[in-house]
Amino acid sequence: MKAFTYQRADSVTQAATAAIKPGAKIIAGGTNLLDLMKLQVETPSRLIDINRLPLDRIEETPEGGLRIGTMVRNSDLAADPRVRLRYGVLSRALLAGASAQLRNKATTGGNLLQRTRCYYFYDITKPCNKRIPGSGCAALAGFNRIHAILGTSEHCIATHPSDMAVAMRALDAKVETVNRQGETTVIPIAEFHRLPGNTPEIETSLKPGEIITSVTLPPPPPGVQVYRKVRDRASYAFALVSVAAIVDSARGRIRSARLAFGGLAHKPWRIEQAEQRLANASADTASFNAAANAVLEGARGFSGNDFKLPLTRRTLHSVMAETTRT
Ligand SMILES: Cc1cc2nc3c(=O)[nH]c(=O)nc-3n(C[C@H](O)[C@H](O)[C@H](O)COP(=O)(O)OP(=O)(O)OC[C@H]3O[C@@H](n4cnc5c(N)ncnc54)[C@H](O)[C@@H]3O)c2cc1C
Ligand code: SF4
Repeated sequence: MKAFTYQRADSVTQAATAAIKPGAKIIAGGTNLLDLMKLQVETPSRLIDINRLPLDRIEETPEGGLRIGTMVRNSDLAADPRVRLRYGVLSRALLAGASAQLRNKATTGGNLLQRTRCYYFYDITKPCNKRIPGSGCAALAGFNRIHAILGTSEHCIATHPSDMAVAMRALDAKVETVNRQGETTVIPIAEFHRLPGNTPEIETSLKPGEIITSVTLPPPPPGVQVYRKVRDRASYAFALVSVAAIVDSARGRIRSARLAFGGLAHKPWRIEQAEQRLANASADTASFNAAANAVLEGARGFSGNDFKLPLTRRTLHSVMAETTRT
C-alpha cells in the first residue's frame, strides 16, 4: 500500500473542500476502498474520513418517504422496521449482499460508489481502460463470465456490482450531494450511474469533490416487492443476474410493474418499455416473454457470459410468476 495522509472531516463542506484536492479520496466503511488500495488499484495520497459526520440517520420525509443518511450502515438499513415494512425489496437486496461483517461496516453512499468486480480491474498487471484509460480491455477476449451483456462498449464490459442500487433503481430513489460551497444537488438514481462509452473510468455523474449526503426514497409504490439474486454460491457472491421487482396485480391481471436488473450492465438496468408491456396485461407467459424481449433488446454476450441472456429471461419469468401468484 502506498503512503497517504489521513484527515477526519468535521463538516460536510470541509470534507468536500478536502476531497477536491488531487489524490484525495473519501473513506466511509472502507470495505471496497481499502482492498483497492492494498492491491494498488487505487493509490490516493490523502484520505478524508467522514465517519464522524452526523449523516447516519434514517428520517421520514413530509411526502411519506424515507431519507437515508450516507453513513447509515447496510445492516442498519436492512433491519430498519420502516424499510422492512414499506421497502421490502431494499431490505432483501441489502441482505443478499456481501456478509454480515461487511454489511456492518458498508455504508449507503459507499455501496453506490463501490467499483466493479471485473477480475482485470483488480489485477494491475493486466490492461484495463477503467484503471488506466487507453490501456485496453482484457475482459473482451478473456474471462468474462461475470461481465455485462447490455450497455457495453468496445472500451469496457464491466458490471456494477451493487445489490442495493438495483433495489433503489426500482424505487426511483434520489441521491443528494453537497459540494465545497455547501450547494446541494439532487440526482435521480437513473442518472447517477453511467454507461462506459469511451470513458469507463467515469462511473457516476458526481463532480469532483462532491459528497453524497443522503439517498431519498419516495413513498412506496403499490404491489408485491421481491429481490431475486442468481449467483454461483448461495451467499457471499455477487449477482450473475438479479431482479428487483415491484408488481401490482390482482386475479391474473397486472396493473403495473417495475423491474430493475443487476449483473447485466455498468449500471442498474431498467427499461420502461418492458414495464409498459406488462402494464394492464395478463399475468401469463406471453406477457412475460414480451417484457423479457424488451429488457434484452440489443443484448450481446462475449462468450463466457452468453448464458446471461437465457438466465435473464428465466429469472424474469420466475419473478413475475411469484409476484402475480394469487
Ligand atoms: C468480499 C466482499 C463481498 C461483497 N459482496 C457484495 C455483494 O454481494 N453485493 C454488494 O452489493 N456488495 C458487495 N460487496 C461490496 C460492499 O457492499 C461494498 O464494499 C460496500 O458497500 C462499500 O461501502 P463502504 O462504505 O465500505 O465504501 P468505501 O470502501 O469506504 O468507499 C467506496 C467508494 O465510495 C466513496 N465514498 C464513500 N462514501 C462517500 C460519500 N458519502 N461521498 C462521496 N464518496 C464516497 C469512496 O471514496 C470510495 O471511492 C462485497 C464486498 C466484499 C469485500
Ligand atoms: S471490462 Fe472494464 S473494468 Fe474490466 S478490464 Fe475491461 S475496461 Fe477494465
